[in-house]
Amino acid sequence: MQYISTRGQVPAVSFSTAVAQGLAPDGGLYLPEKLPNLRPHLGEWSKLSYAELCEAFFAIFATDIDSAELKEVVARSYTKFDHADIAPIVKLDDDRYVLELFHGPTLAFKDFALQLLGNLYESQIARTRSHISVLGATSGDTGAAAIHGLLGKEGVTTFILYPDGRISPLQERQMTCTGADNVFPLAIKGSFDDAQTAMKTVFEDREFAAEVGLSAVNSINLARILAQCVYYLSAYFRLPEDVRDDITFVVPTGNFGNVLAGWLVQRMGLPIKGFRVATNQNDILHRLFQAGTYQLDEVAPSVAPSMDIQVASNFERFLYYAEGCDPKKVREIIQTFKETGKYVFKNFDSTGFISSRSDDAQIEQIIKDVYLKYGYVVDPHTACGFEQGFEGKEIILATAHPAKFPDTIQAAIGENSTHASLEVLKSKEIVKHSVIPSPAAIKAFMRARI
Ligand SMILES: *Cc1c(COP(=O)(O)O)cnc(C)c1O
Repeated sequence: MQYISTRGQVPAVSFSTAVAQGLAPDGGLYLPEKLPNLRPHLGEWSKLSYAELCEAFFAIFATDIDSAELKEVVARSYTKFDHADIAPIVKLDDDRYVLELFHGPTLAFKDFALQLLGNLYESQIARTRSHISVLGATSGDTGAAAIHGLLGKEGVTTFILYPDGRISPLQERQMTCTGADNVFPLAIKGSFDDAQTAMKTVFEDREFAAEVGLSAVNSINLARILAQCVYYLSAYFRLPEDVRDDITFVVPTGNFGNVLAGWLVQRMGLPIKGFRVATNQNDILHRLFQAGTYQLDEVAPSVAPSMDIQVASNFERFLYYAEGCDPKKVREIIQTFKETGKYVFKNFDSTGFISSRSDDAQIEQIIKDVYLKYGYVVDPHTACGFEQGFEGKEIILATAHPAKFPDTIQAAIGENSTHASLEVLKSKEIVKHSVIPSPAAIKAFMRARI
């Protein structure tokens, strides 16, 4: 299987190259040259364990990785989850199910992809004997999941930029209390945007990138999307047979990576009925699915910070298919959007999608209502999925454990949510480095540590 760019201006590459590069050199995102048909496999796959299912799925895509090696990489990636089902389903009532995606080491769904990505990097390093430097910017969950995916990996040094004082104290502890000597959390004086801008500038310095073996772990990496496809398959197989073809998957959405994975699996033949894109008050995608206009707005910080995103980077992958796999059309739309902050679709085809939006007050109310009705505590991101007024059967993806957001939970239900892995962190030493958000300062810091 080869991988092409959504912008169509670079040659197709292998799986390993697409994963190592992250972003395609023409600025586009990688996609499989052709989506496989999974239908012939579904009967057999329905009997597999989570790790076996993941291995069978990746065998179709990672065709340049030796099958014994792939098996070993995948098996290792799901050993640090604290639930035997890896992605268990909880039934709330006949119409409502929850898919719990927070049983990994950092208690958010990003562990599904970043545990695997860390092991893919490691096996690649063993094969090529080269060193990799991972640089990322985070507003919380991605950084923690990336650090825990790369912790102690031979040949990888990890640098994660985050805005000092602007992520939750527990998220900071997940990044800074690891005790690992190949991980450097860099607290930036400034906002998440400052951190992200500085990071992008470092990536644009191709000489530096080659010198340190720079790689990206943000959600544009194809391996992350593919790893997320697996829990849609697993959820479908675990749902009762009389429910699975008649249920909408509800996905709390920011960068559109999570819901895109489900949508791709549907295109590959899994008979999922449809999706609801659930946003917080940063609702660019909700407005798009309602009215067909993609229009930038200011980011308004919310109690669901991992969804405080306006430009959803993975939307470009959806666009590629929505525009009939025409890279020229994708380039035009992206260009117009870049120049004007807006794109009006003439015939926006939102088949298979509905959407919803929840502001901070609604999120708090939902956490309370769900708790009173079911005795079940949802985190502020997951709460967006419980929008009232929807008729029909739904499975809501629980993207984080509520204990990561104790203040919001306390305010909503008057009780604390805790998790042993977070309690342990509270007595550990914080090790972080202060850096100004200038590309030169970041590069100097990295050179000194590699
Ligand atoms: C990252 C994240 C999201 C948003 O997922 P996308 O793939 O960016 O749409 C939602 N909830 C939580 C808890 C997250 O960490």
